[in-house]
Amino acid sequence: METIMKTKISIILTLLTAAADAQAALRVVATTPELVDIASRVGGSLVEVQGLAKGTEDIHQVVPRPSFVTKLNRADAVVYLGLTIEHAFLPPLLDVARNPKMRTDAVKECVGPGCIDCSEGVSVLEKPENLSRAEGELHPQGNPHYNAGPDDGPIIARNIAAGLSRVDPAHKADFEKNLKAYLAELDAKLALWRRWVKPLKGMKAVSYHKDVAYLGRFTGLEFVDTLELKPGVAPTPTHLEQLVKEMKEQGVRLIVREQQYDSKMCQWLAEQTGAKIAVIGSMANALPGTETFVKYSEKNLKDLLEAAGKDPS
Ligand SMILES: [Zn+2]
Repeated sequence: METIMKTKISIILTLLTAAADAQAALRVVATTPELVDIASRVGGSLVEVQGLAKGTEDIHQVVPRPSFVTKLNRADAVVYLGLTIEHAFLPPLLDVARNPKMRTDAVKECVGPGCIDCSEGVSVLEKPENLSRAEGELHPQGNPHYNAGPDDGPIIARNIAAGLSRVDPAHKADFEKNLKAYLAELDAKLALWRRWVKPLKGMKAVSYHKDVAYLGRFTGLEFVDTLELKPGVAPTPTHLEQLVKEMKEQGVRLIVREQQYDSKMCQWLAEQTGAKIAVIGSMANALPGTETFVKYSEKNLKDLLEAAGKDPS
């Protein structure tokens, strides 16, 4: 009788342990959809990743939702782009979430073992000489939209692997293995995409927001101006008139509209100049079928090539 009892207890304990193991996945919060994707790939079955911003939102104006606080409060790690791109929502949420693994310091940067900043090692473009934010500049530390640069994918993935290994050192080898597999996939895509974009090199273009610098570096497209007066400052009639003149003088044939920005204004500009419009995403999931970093990068490149009248080949 006693033996049966012991066996039963042993079975129950085994089941309980298994349940605890199943729940032991690291709780990771990622600020954008492509970070959710890359963190899921690098973390594999060892992580549960939840996202914050939707791909269709303007990253600079994400409205914090109550569910964000709950997610951050329970998280073991938060994965973010940094360079102040999430400043509208991440620092205030971290303050409310009161998670000792991820707090904010005096300048509202994430500090603590759970903070995984994906911008480490990124060669930041458009760094301003004057670091003042007094004029409402949205990019005070340089252009933070490196998630739109296909060749920044490997840097993001490496930062996530290093971050997860810091949070959960026992599984470092697993994260490294997942990273290696993901990088191999990414490298093959990057080689393909580099061939695709060759015809874009030196073509001039304008965009709505200054979020195409890294895409410009990868494709060779030369972005000469934006519809916005400066990052976060809406276009004015005077500026748009000047832009028409500038585009005609410089022979700009391509307008890049990020999905979340005004289509009528871009349409007007296209009519005035004869330029074609490419609609791209500033984040994964901004456009249908772009839920992963690879699909998102590929769709952006295809849309640019199509609007430029070039075939991917
Ligand atoms: Zn921006």
